[in-house]
Amino acid sequence: MPLTQAQKNSIEHKARMFLVENDAARMPIEPEALAQRVGLSVRYAAIPGNTIGKLDRDKKIIVVDAWLEDDPSYARCVISHELGHWNLEENDAEETLAEAAMASDTKSEDKELAASLFARAMLMPRPYLEKAVEIYRSEKQWEQYDSLIDYISSLFRVTKRKAKLRLEECGFVL
Ligand SMILES: [Zn+2]
Repeated sequence: MPLTQAQKNSIEHKARMFLVENDAARMPIEPEALAQRVGLSVRYAAIPGNTIGKLDRDKKIIVVDAWLEDDPSYARCVISHELGHWNLEENDAEETLAEAAMASDTKSEDKELAASLFARAMLMPRPYLEKAVEIYRSEKQWEQYDSLIDYISSLFRVTKRKAKLRLEECGFVL
């Protein structure tokens, strides 16, 4: 089931509060520094299978698959997604979350959607995104959506996929 508008609003709010509480006001957001600030260490290690990230709530570790060290934008998205689980499920039973690269099973689908939205909202806060789009539009003679995605992706240091999703959910679609 897709998230309801109320759920989305609540996640956006929690992501905003998380940034405010941790004095993260400058772009690009540094998810690894934020993780450390809340007591989580980030470690790169080979994870078997198609799992790309894990949150071990017990040991307070975020594990990122080793190959992502060569893809910082992707790694930043994975760490932010784990911070989403950390913030949104703090009252849940302690468990190690293993992330699959592709779709997740339906049981945990809502939690995955929620953590991913948290990650996008944290890495590309709406007011900053709006400002960035405004600057982009003022500098361009005409708009090309692909080039806007590239611009947002490099400015906020996120994958193009995340940039595209964020632009769409914030209403910037050509
Ligand atoms: Zn997840």
